[in-house]
Amino acid sequence: MTEDIQEMTRETEAGDWRLRKDLCKGCGLCIEVCESGALEFSSELGPYGSYVVQPSEADCTGCGQCADICPDGAITLS
Ligand code: SF4
Ligand code: SF4
Repeated sequence: MTEDIQEMTRETEAGDWRLRKDLCKGCGLCIEVCESGALEFSSELGPYGSYVVQPSEADCTGCGQCADICPDGAITLS
């Protein structure tokens, strides 16, 4: 697990899940589409005054649904 001001990285079973925290507006769409129930709101406020999301490293399968649905391109997987 690594953190910096702009980016959150989670090392999941399927690879690295990354969130551009400056782009996440906390809409929750990614949480709704995650079939593994791996995503939740973190306790960290983003620039829009809402909590940014984070995945459970153990539960994320790397399916990419969250990245596909995010209207702001905040999530990437590698
Ligand atoms: S869909 Fe994108 S903007 Fe919305 S909560 Fe998820 S990462 Fe943040
Ligand atoms: S990559 Fe898939 S399993 Fe992982 S957090 Fe996103 S939607 Fe959930």
